[in-house]
Amino acid sequence: MTNNKVPQPLPTARLAEPRRKTGGQLRLRVSATAESVLRAGHPWLFAESIRSQNRPGEMGELGVVYDRNDRFLALGLFDPSSAIRLRVLHAGKPQLVNRAFLRERLERALQRRNGLFDPQTTGFRWVHGESDGWPGLVLDRYDTTLVLKLYTAAWLPWLGELAEMIGDRLRPERLVLRLSRNAQEFARQRYGQTDGQVLRGTDPGQAVAFLETGLRFEADVARGQKTGFFLDQRENRRQVETLAGGRVVLNAFSFSGGFSLYAARGGARSVLDLDISPHALAAAERNFALNQSEVTVRQCRQERIPADAFEWLAAHPTRQFDLIALDPPSFAKREAERAGAISAYRRLAALGIHHLKPGGIILACSCSAHVSEDEFFGAVRTAAANSNRGFTELARAGQPADHPAAFAEARYLKATYLRVN
Ligand code: SAH
Repeated sequence: MTNNKVPQPLPTARLAEPRRKTGGQLRLRVSATAESVLRAGHPWLFAESIRSQNRPGEMGELGVVYDRNDRFLALGLFDPSSAIRLRVLHAGKPQLVNRAFLRERLERALQRRNGLFDPQTTGFRWVHGESDGWPGLVLDRYDTTLVLKLYTAAWLPWLGELAEMIGDRLRPERLVLRLSRNAQEFARQRYGQTDGQVLRGTDPGQAVAFLETGLRFEADVARGQKTGFFLDQRENRRQVETLAGGRVVLNAFSFSGGFSLYAARGGARSVLDLDISPHALAAAERNFALNQSEVTVRQCRQERIPADAFEWLAAHPTRQFDLIALDPPSFAKREAERAGAISAYRRLAALGIHHLKPGGIILACSCSAHVSEDEFFGAVRTAAANSNRGFTELARAGQPADHPAAFAEARYLKATYLRVN
């Protein structure tokens, strides 16, 4: 990738502005329910819960919520374009949001990861949104590259300050900006910022390399899904390595082959990567090539098929496996899709179980925040029960420690391991 664009100056941060020239502080009054929700520490204030505000409010400015007795309740980032109108930065006593506040917040997130990773793992999450006190913001590390992903345009006016703070504290070789779709238009029009732009340092021009549990991977940080890799599945990948010895493995929704590399290192006889994206499979092939120094990886038979996993599984009823990982994309991006998602998880688990040899193990995952743990585990267990084969649930898993979940909606990742007779 070449970047011929003239680098845009970063927007100057708007910091600690207790009194704006036009109209002063943005003050919000909210419903009684929202008051108690915010008081309990929930980080989102929805538009429908706002009873009144003193003026319309601008993208990214600080909005202050006062309770019915006119006391300070919380403050956060205002986003007039989102149903989540305010993302709480602080609740409780009045608080100045300034450079020191933000630096302390970053420090807390970094401290929290202290001791979690040894030098064999250089890809992990430094900052995980709301649950780290950074609503709508993610910071991932891929060795010397850092990726800042914004899920709300409300952070854009703060970008200059953020880039400086991250650069000073972590000294990355480069800092790449990723923007969720809803933030891209505002970023481009107002600030000339684009998804995948390098904020500091040099453009890598290609995917960047990093280590996970000693395995070498590439992440396409400028264009790949999420920030280039699914860092949240590290623990399940490690688990799969321990289960894979001598096994014939299917990795459905393989993306860049994460589960497959661990299975191969763990001694799998063969791995089949199934993904609808040829781009993802090409990355999986490169990741295998990067790990040829491992004897077991070298000896593992690899197969890669670009296909819709549902269709492929239905069309190849006789292909049998000892170990199957099913890690599909989110089936419920919004609440209205929840019921459909639950039945899709059930259908997928049923298809997978059909392809398991006797005594085989299936790992079924969901990353839909809208589908609860009970609903997902229930769907997979129903599929297993309906197969009439008898099964044992071996383990369940959630999110790894670098993806903390401080409130219910943040617990998106669920995984269950079943052994089927
Ligand atoms: N397990 C992976 C992450 C999976 S992300 C890891 O550990 O890194 C989900 C993947 O599913 C994406 O790569 C996407 O291209 C793929 N995908 C989406 N819909 C699909 C479908 N219907 N059939 C097969 N693959 C699909």
